[in-house]
Amino acid sequence: MASFDLHGRVAIVTGGNGGIGLGMARGLAEVGASVVIAGRNADKNAEAVSKISASGGQAIAVDVDVVQASSCQAMVEATRSQYGGVDILINNAGINNRKQPEDYTLAEWQQVLDINLTGAFLCCQAVYPSMVERGGGKIINIGSMMSIFAASFTVAYAASKGGIVQMSKGLACAWAKDNIQVNAVLPGWIDTDLTRRGRREVDGLHEKVLARTPAARWGDPGDMAGIGVFLASPASDFVTGTAIPVDGGYSAQG
Ligand code: NDP
Repeated sequence: MASFDLHGRVAIVTGGNGGIGLGMARGLAEVGASVVIAGRNADKNAEAVSKISASGGQAIAVDVDVVQASSCQAMVEATRSQYGGVDILINNAGINNRKQPEDYTLAEWQQVLDINLTGAFLCCQAVYPSMVERGGGKIINIGSMMSIFAASFTVAYAASKGGIVQMSKGLACAWAKDNIQVNAVLPGWIDTDLTRRGRREVDGLHEKVLARTPAARWGDPGDMAGIGVFLASPASDFVTGTAIPVDGGYSAQG
């Protein structure tokens, strides 16, 4: 019988203080994981920890800026000193900057790539020694429908999210020897701060998403909990290098 139990496991969720990250963090805490909410905004981090604690879960907050290697290392050190090590990493921190490609400054392009892709890589490097020490681990990288499709106004974001899938495959191959499984999750359209901004900036986005999604609704952050638990648990020990859409059928629609 496959086990989805995460008691005794320690999970870091970057950007775990809201939206999809918090939805996944809550799911992991519900099945017993000790969770580290890692984000830049200390007030949001503390609020997320309170929510998890209020429903009986175990969580702490750690400030991190994923673009700084030293900050990623400090996040892992704080986790080790509180919980003894790291078993699960969810690379969820991400931003978008919607504009036509000819209008990007180099700094704007780099910021999206740095946070969404390089930041995820730095966190993978930072947790690796602890996962090896504990005999294995689970890394879940958050991609997007923009890992598969693209749009005129999200070139940097699509490049970063396409990169997330390929990085996950490469790490899955490299770290299988260490019993570390690495997978990407590709959320469809989920109602969060990020997409609320998107709906203000892109005319008709709300209706287009509803029309194309077979489930005929936007996703809720709680819809991401199940895939998080599965990919973090022993139930997925033979699943690695995949990219799994969680999208109400959006990517299946012709
Ligand atoms: P949110 O804006 O709610 O979450 C983004 C999170 O990333 C915040 O918690 C933010 O923390 C954190 N973050 C951003 N920059 C950094 C940084 N430099 N260091 C540490 N944390 C950082 O949006 P979502 O929940 O929607 O997005 C979460 C992930 O899901 C992103 O990777 C996004 O691309 C992806 N995604 C979202 C979809 C959707 O429909 N919502 C669809 C597909 C993918 P803080 O506030 O503390 O800065």
